[in-house]
Amino acid sequence: MEQPWVVGLILALLGLAVGSFDNVAIYRVPRGLSLWSPGSFCPRCKRPVAWRDNLPILGYILLRGRCRRCGGPISPRYPLVEALSGGLFLAVGAKHDFRWSVEMLPELLLVTVLIIVSFIDLDEQIIPNRVILPAVPAALVLMAVVAWARGDWGILLRSLAGAAIGGVPLGLLALLLPRGMGMGDAKLSLFTGLVLGYQQLTAFFFAFLTGSAAGLVLIALGRMGRKSRIPFGPFLALGALVALFFGGWIWEFYRGLMG
Ligand SMILES: [Zn+2]
Repeated sequence: MEQPWVVGLILALLGLAVGSFDNVAIYRVPRGLSLWSPGSFCPRCKRPVAWRDNLPILGYILLRGRCRRCGGPISPRYPLVEALSGGLFLAVGAKHDFRWSVEMLPELLLVTVLIIVSFIDLDEQIIPNRVILPAVPAALVLMAVVAWARGDWGILLRSLAGAAIGGVPLGLLALLLPRGMGMGDAKLSLFTGLVLGYQQLTAFFFAFLTGSAAGLVLIALGRMGRKSRIPFGPFLALGALVALFFGGWIWEFYRGLMG
């Protein structure tokens, strides 16, 4: 159970299975449906999907992207989300050299919530409380577990500092400029800050960089007016992923530049 390839394999399979659950959450949360029952159904004909057709990625390939019952197309986004989740779980493993470590727990929660929230925000321009409100205490508990396991309560303090860095500025922005920033964005960055600590600053830097670049490109292409909104959640998620996987290198590089 300790060989690196076993750790990687377990994480990849776990990530694929969680990705399957992410798809359920992305579809059902905005529609106010239960996550647990009924089991998977085709969104077109509403009939249940057999477990073998529901295997992550494999089901989609074996069905050639069509529902077995009604023949309707299955969105390629389903296998994409599963592959994304499997890939990010594997990346969390790589970050820890494929050795089990307690830090993986909040990081796996982080990538899972980021996937669910990003796709819901792209679809509905909302970051639902039903996802983000349970995610915040869950992250806090897991960070406390990490601090306890490492015998370093400074970890929990840096986590709380990260939550303040993430939540306070965007919370104020959402109050002052409700058209520009939503309270959901503030709750999301409070959550990412809990896991990222001071690296939340790196997350913000890349979120605003990529978000404004995307906005400028869309304006230049005439695809949006100055007043239309693009969801900011996916950019906060992108920034958080950059901070999670490359934040350490980026800070080293920056410190090198400063001499
Ligand atoms: Zn169907």
